[in-house]
Amino acid sequence: MSIERRGPALATTLVHAGEPEPRIEGAVVAPIFQSSTFLSEREAAYDDIRYVRLSNTPNHHLLHAKLAAIEGGEAALVTGSGMAAITTSLLAILRPGDHLLVQRQLYGGTHAFVHHDLTRWGVRVDSFDPHRPADWPTLVRPDTRAIYSETITNPLVRVGELDAIAAFARAHGLVSLIDNTFASPVNFRPLEWGFDLSLHSATKYLNGHSDIAAGAVIGSAELVERVRHMLNHLGGMLDPHACFLLHRGLKTLLLRVSRQNDNALRIARFLEGHDAVATVYYPGLESSPDHATARRLLDGFGGMLAFEVRGDVAGAEAVMQRLRLPLVAPSLGGVETLVTRPAATSHSGMSAEERRQAGVADTLIRMSVGIEAADDLIADLEHALAAA
Ligand code: PLP
Repeated sequence: MSIERRGPALATTLVHAGEPEPRIEGAVVAPIFQSSTFLSEREAAYDDIRYVRLSNTPNHHLLHAKLAAIEGGEAALVTGSGMAAITTSLLAILRPGDHLLVQRQLYGGTHAFVHHDLTRWGVRVDSFDPHRPADWPTLVRPDTRAIYSETITNPLVRVGELDAIAAFARAHGLVSLIDNTFASPVNFRPLEWGFDLSLHSATKYLNGHSDIAAGAVIGSAELVERVRHMLNHLGGMLDPHACFLLHRGLKTLLLRVSRQNDNALRIARFLEGHDAVATVYYPGLESSPDHATARRLLDGFGGMLAFEVRGDVAGAEAVMQRLRLPLVAPSLGGVETLVTRPAATSHSGMSAEERRQAGVADTLIRMSVGIEAADDLIADLEHALAAA
């Protein structure tokens, strides 16, 4: 857990990688190429025709280079949303008849896609517990092709044995994919730990300003190109203006996430000591069951935490309404602190019994910690919890 582990160059890479050399017309900031098509200079294969849906405008090229450099990949691809990155990558890798292993707790959209949509296309899906490596070998079949996990889970912010997952994939010849959205490249860089493809909802930390939807895929040139060809057919590309905004947002990623890590740890410690709070979920707390794993694997514990207030749902709702700074809204990873009650939002599609099994209490509040002053956020929480 040190800033050195993420490499002294990350701060510089974020600013200087993926910038045009020489600068275009001397502009320090790369302009937006708001053109859907480009002059054909020579015969080109279909995927290389210069056309916006094929993710090959100048804004795409610059952004891909910056993202690849940030996570140490050979190549990167941006998409129109995080779900486009996830679904397109899985469709590029899997064929009907394949078997896919997925982590038990998954983001809701991913859970629905793998268990309800992929299965309709002839892919068999089994879940694994990321905390129990000894169980995994029994799940592998001759047709198992890929393994899918998440760095930090939603909403209980659990951290599994990620290095063991990557090693297990290598040993069994599986393609390993990981959704690195919650950690961001500041806290975890999957390729360095042996994962094949790192996926992001760039809507969250990578962009960081809650003003676009985007996704990212980072990995080897060969795998990323396979995903791009699938994206070219499915059509879920990112437009040049959103590329420009994401490219801009990335430059401050380290500053934002470092601050969010610090704020979240301070808030988690404050909540843990508060009488109105029953449980706090944050991998940076010594009381977390994943603290040792997170300390070993992550460079920071992230900006996401969750807590259960004592009392009933009305009490939890009242706490959220009394907060003055955090906004009550879904999504995460922006500069502003957001709170949401997963039982009423992200996990409302589950039955009460399914939520109970997943450990998601009705009184659980999830917080995406922003970059405000921690003292102000803590004072606000103190006020909101005082009447709880
Ligand atoms: N992965 C995670 C962990 C998420 O939290 C989300 C959205 O909340 C997604 C993927 C999907 O991202 P998007 O909304 O950009 O499609």
